[in-house]
Amino acid sequence: MGGIVLSAIMLHNTLTRSVDSFAPIDANEVKLYTCGPTVYDYATIGNMRAYLFADILRRSLEYFGYHVKQVMNITDVGHLVSDADEGEDKMLIGMRREGKTPWEIAEHYTAIFFRHAAALNILRPHVVAKATEHVPQMIEFIKRLEALGYTYEISDGVYFDISKFEAYGQLSKLDLEGQRAGARVDVNLEKRHPADFAVWRKADPSHIMQWDSPWGRGYPGWHIECSAMSMEYLGERIDIHTGGIDHVPVHHEGEIAQNDAALGHRVVQRWMHNEFLQIDGGRMGKSLGNFYTVDDLVDRGFEPLAYRYFSLNAHYRSKLNFTWDALKGAQTALHRLWQRAHELATRIDSPAVDQILAGGRSVAGDPAAERFAAAIADDLGTPQAMAVLWEVARRDDDPEQCLALLIDFDRVLALDLARAARGELQRNQQLTDDDIPAEASSLLDQRERARSARDWAAADAIRNQLASMGYTIEDTPTGPKLKQK
Ligand code: AMP
Ligand code: ZN
Repeated sequence: MGGIVLSAIMLHNTLTRSVDSFAPIDANEVKLYTCGPTVYDYATIGNMRAYLFADILRRSLEYFGYHVKQVMNITDVGHLVSDADEGEDKMLIGMRREGKTPWEIAEHYTAIFFRHAAALNILRPHVVAKATEHVPQMIEFIKRLEALGYTYEISDGVYFDISKFEAYGQLSKLDLEGQRAGARVDVNLEKRHPADFAVWRKADPSHIMQWDSPWGRGYPGWHIECSAMSMEYLGERIDIHTGGIDHVPVHHEGEIAQNDAALGHRVVQRWMHNEFLQIDGGRMGKSLGNFYTVDDLVDRGFEPLAYRYFSLNAHYRSKLNFTWDALKGAQTALHRLWQRAHELATRIDSPAVDQILAGGRSVAGDPAAERFAAAIADDLGTPQAMAVLWEVARRDDDPEQCLALLIDFDRVLALDLARAARGELQRNQQLTDDDIPAEASSLLDQRERARSARDWAAADAIRNQLASMGYTIEDTPTGPKLKQK
């Protein structure tokens, strides 16, 4: 049993822009930090791509025999709208919209985030750290930076002075002189450099979330959250830190500066970033209002795992374009895979099935297992790994070995193949992919748009069209769903 341990797993490092062989600082425990969600709104399926990537990374490391400790933050202190720490507090925006306290908003969206993550088979990190529960650690961290001369105080807060940290910009290869020259005139004139960032912000009395500090009442900067919490739970040397590609130029640059300045050595050894999920070739984002959540997929008759499958078909460092048709294709393939796993199980006697599904059948030395491991070891080559999975699924020689291989691969892929083999995933979907063609999903979308534009005649016409195709629309608390008549 256990993973096939190759000599090495090769992983990309944004710091060096290269793929090299991974070796943890402490062979007994890989320290993995994942930048978590800002919980003032739903996490989009774009955001979920970042957590799917971190999950695949963690599962792959475990597959290769490492023991992993994964820590993730929950950003429940409002950070400002732009990554550059300008604009309005995100929590305040949510609060005004919903008439709730920031704590209620954070709790609400955190619960939904973990429900969506679980539906995608994303393992819960070993430690989930809320920013609001770690303000004392953040204050200590800032005091340490202050004592070392890395910060300065101005009227609205305490800032990190990037000119004191020579390596600033190393991750994104920033052009700092260009930034200074091109800085807009309305940036905070008290700042010494436009890229200096707040580690502590002074709050006026109307700001709800605020804490006492040596610099007056206020709240922490966004980057200091991750620096303080990663150090609290993972210590002074961290093997891998993950996040979306948008975090490279500001958030992670800020974390590196704070970490390495405070400790005097490189804290995070490897930075890994996922590329974006796009929609219609452009950006999907909370602030752009063109996003879907896992619940939106379910409302349109999709399994959450179809989205996991869809993501696995692309490498994490490639842009991925979301379309309903592509998701439908992924769901069809997933259902075939489930069916195949079940078929294989029916051809094997039940004690053997039990043994295989319990992970008790070694596949070490099987050439397919070696190719699967090699694909994963090549910077998490999930598309290649999926190709190996399908080769095995299509084989007709040795059902026991085929099923054992599929179950083994599923330790990384997490597509519920053991449940499928037991026949648990045959008929428990509301609608299968065959029931819901892309045309119907697209009509449902159009009807929603007509309804938001208060064009009731168009909405009714679409409802009739769907009815003639054999569907009724059921309005549920989470939105409209299609049902077969
Ligand atoms: P946020 O809650 O905005 O901090 O984002 C949570 C995570 O999702 C971060 O790691 C982002 O970099 C990542 N992210 C945001 N949008 C996308 C997207 N469209 N595709 C992939 N990752 C994203
Ligand atoms: Zn972070």
